Amino acid sequence: MLRNANRQLRLKARPTGLAGPEHFDETTEPVRPPAEGEALVETLLLSIDPAMRVWMNEDPGYVPPVPLGSVMRAGGVARVVESRVPGPQPGDLVQGRLGWQSHPTLPADALQKLDLSLGDAEAWIGPLGTSALTAYFGMTAVGGVRPGMTVLVSGAAGAVGQIACQVGTLNHCRVVGIAGGPDKCAMLTDDLGLAAAIDYKAEADLEAAIRKAAPQGVDLFFDNVGGPTLDAAIANMAAGGRIAICGRISQTAAAELYGVKNLGLAIGKRLRIQGFIVSDYHDRYDEARAWLAGELKAGRLKQRLHILDGLEQAPTGLRMLFEGGNTGKLAVRVAE
Ligand code: NAP
Repeated sequence: MLRNANRQLRLKARPTGLAGPEHFDETTEPVRPPAEGEALVETLLLSIDPAMRVWMNEDPGYVPPVPLGSVMRAGGVARVVESRVPGPQPGDLVQGRLGWQSHPTLPADALQKLDLSLGDAEAWIGPLGTSALTAYFGMTAVGGVRPGMTVLVSGAAGAVGQIACQVGTLNHCRVVGIAGGPDKCAMLTDDLGLAAAIDYKAEADLEAAIRKAAPQGVDLFFDNVGGPTLDAAIANMAAGGRIAICGRISQTAAAELYGVKNLGLAIGKRLRIQGFIVSDYHDRYDEARAWLAGELKAGRLKQRLHILDGLEQAPTGLRMLFEGGNTGKLAVRVAE
């Protein structure tokens, strides 16, 4: 890669269903020397997240859409090449809003120097990254996880799900995961120590499968999937249970939205159902990272990364999230 070239992927067209390489254009620009208050960085790792598919829509969600022709928005980890900011200096590792590009020049407030005593670059994408923070706050602040609970997690073998499951096991809960395929389910029980894993792709009746795995009812459901999975879980909630609505990936790119049918059960069961956005807890990120880093160093927290090589793989990666092609946290390596 030329040091004076910034390779970029720009949003070319808005998808109706799944996103893929056909929705992006590759461009190359000369790197821009930093002005006062900016730093030039070299992208090392980019996080690939389901929310990116939402940002490609024209309608604003809880963050504005990516304008057509713009570099695709993305977070990641980079190495500082040239700095005109007071904090990070050349050679330092930072995280920030890098976008799908190899050598962005960014303002100081878009970058944060990494504390490498907590973990390396891969750890900052994975178990110390935003997906892990999402799992931590969804399980603790929203879900009120407590020892002895029966916890159900959907999308359990993904980036957020695998950490949510372990926040449960590390808090002495009985955790049941839902994931697609025997390999993901084996990973959940054999590697992460879950009490049970349900392969929703092999189950004709998900509601019955959850009942079998959690016969006393579910105290806390951490939902990444929505749609029929949410319905099957509501039917199995214990009285007074909580549901943390983290995501609804089954509906994000769906041609027709699924109408949840079992909400009426929430009345008699006195359920508390709460959606959340990880940034609601921005002021507490250090607390979460301290816990996650401690569990990681002690060898109790495991994190599987799924890394694709090359910036050009980013659109394929985004599609993989919606086809279940990833196990663990999906990221793209742009440079070593
Ligand atoms: P991920 O779980 O690593 O990847 C997505 C996974 O979703 C896939 O591997 C696939 O696993 C599953 N999936 C895809 N389509 C599905 C469908 N139709 N039905 C059931 N499962 C399906 O992704 P992630 O980054 O951890 O994100 C998980 C969820 O958290 C997403 O909904 C995301 O939007 C949400 N999220 C929310 C916040 C927040 O602040 N609230 C922050 C980050 C992420 P299987 O093979 O198991 O199907």
